[in-house]
Amino acid sequence: MESFDAIVVGGGPAGSSCARALRQAGLGVLVLDKAGFPRDKVCAGWVTPQVVETLGLNLADYARSRVLQPITAFLTGLIDGPSVENRFDEPVSYGIRRCEFDHYLLERSGASLATGEPLRSLERRDGVWLVNERLRAPMLVGAGGHFCPVARHLGARPGRGEVAVTAKEAEFRVDPEVLAALDLEAERPELYFRRDLSGYGWVFRKGDYVNIGLGREGSAQLGSALEEFLGFLQRRGKLPQGTPAQFPGHAYLLYRRQHRRRSGEGVLLIGDAAGLAYPQSGEGIRTAVESGVLAAGVIADAAGHYDSATLARYEHLLRERFGEPEQGATGVLPQRLQGWLAERLIANRWFARRVLIERWFLHADEPAMKAV
Ligand SMILES: Cc1cc2nc3c(=O)[nH]c(=O)nc-3n(C[C@H](O)[C@H](O)[C@H](O)COP(=O)(O)OP(=O)(O)OC[C@H]3O[C@@H](n4cnc5c(N)ncnc54)[C@H](O)[C@@H]3O)c2cc1C
Repeated sequence: MESFDAIVVGGGPAGSSCARALRQAGLGVLVLDKAGFPRDKVCAGWVTPQVVETLGLNLADYARSRVLQPITAFLTGLIDGPSVENRFDEPVSYGIRRCEFDHYLLERSGASLATGEPLRSLERRDGVWLVNERLRAPMLVGAGGHFCPVARHLGARPGRGEVAVTAKEAEFRVDPEVLAALDLEAERPELYFRRDLSGYGWVFRKGDYVNIGLGREGSAQLGSALEEFLGFLQRRGKLPQGTPAQFPGHAYLLYRRQHRRRSGEGVLLIGDAAGLAYPQSGEGIRTAVESGVLAAGVIADAAGHYDSATLARYEHLLRERFGEPEQGATGVLPQRLQGWLAERLIANRWFARRVLIERWFLHADEPAMKAV
């Protein structure tokens, strides 16, 4: 039996950020992940400068052997409708490949790793968690994404009673000559909203890779919505030859729309396991990293007293950071903006820049959280 101060289940951005912060606080940490790393994750792979700052990433070092695509413009519009371009003087975001990014963060965390090993059993005995009958720790962090087994242990029922965002995405290498013939700029991701504003599709070039996907709230007709979007890209000369026939899918929860229990006796949930993605953009890497850092702070401050009352402080910190839940809201845009008004606003240059891109997608007015 191996013993640690904390076991983190899931080695994505949430788990690795939490593990790193716990290591920095002097705790012994193990990250358990069912996947062998490097592993891919269904994602557009776009991170904001605040994520880079909180993670303390050295971009030059990161880019030496990995894809790092600076973003200095956006093309936004409606599928089969008008679009508008906005350019910026400096990078306002970055494109990364999740197979590289997550691996880099996990290795850098300094935690002990048990990768390629799923959580098979979980038991709490006399204030200590027993994991897979071979690992023990008084503190457990659930960072296993939307279907996290630790979240289920706390009562989450993914797919039952929760309205998730469902999305499909494919990322693939494209021959540079083929890329040159397409109307796709590497520094300018393109975002196209559905007319009913229930979601949006994107096409995003990162170096020689192209990432295409579509996400919407609820799972109805995701396949046909994606087909429609691919047809639109084809008509606009933006669909590379060799685009895969099958797009893998995934689901996750938008913060404020759903509420999972996120803390309990000796346990906290972070990232997608806690359902924390930003409601308008679906950005979840930032909230994964920030919740990981917040959880680590609460665990370190608890100094071994992991009762549910002490750990409930984490839920309070989440509300302080990300706001109070909005019951009953749906769609990617605030309800007051849905309908014909939103259709017109999406293709308006001022609205697209100041509200859609800067406020809802970049959260430019929300400074980065300081890493510990
Ligand atoms: C199509 C799509 C596009 C997206 N695009 C973006 C984007 O561009 N930018 C952005 O910020 N966000 C984006 N998101 C959201 C973002 O991907 C997630 O919010 C983010 O990955 C959450 O990180 P996490 O660490 O919580 O979970 P994950 O990254 O999902 O990591 C969870 C880890 O837990 C492991 N795990 C799962 N089950 C078990 C188990 N039983 N035992 C052990 N380990 C387990 C998994 O192997 C995985 O490594 C997108 C999501 C989707 C679906």
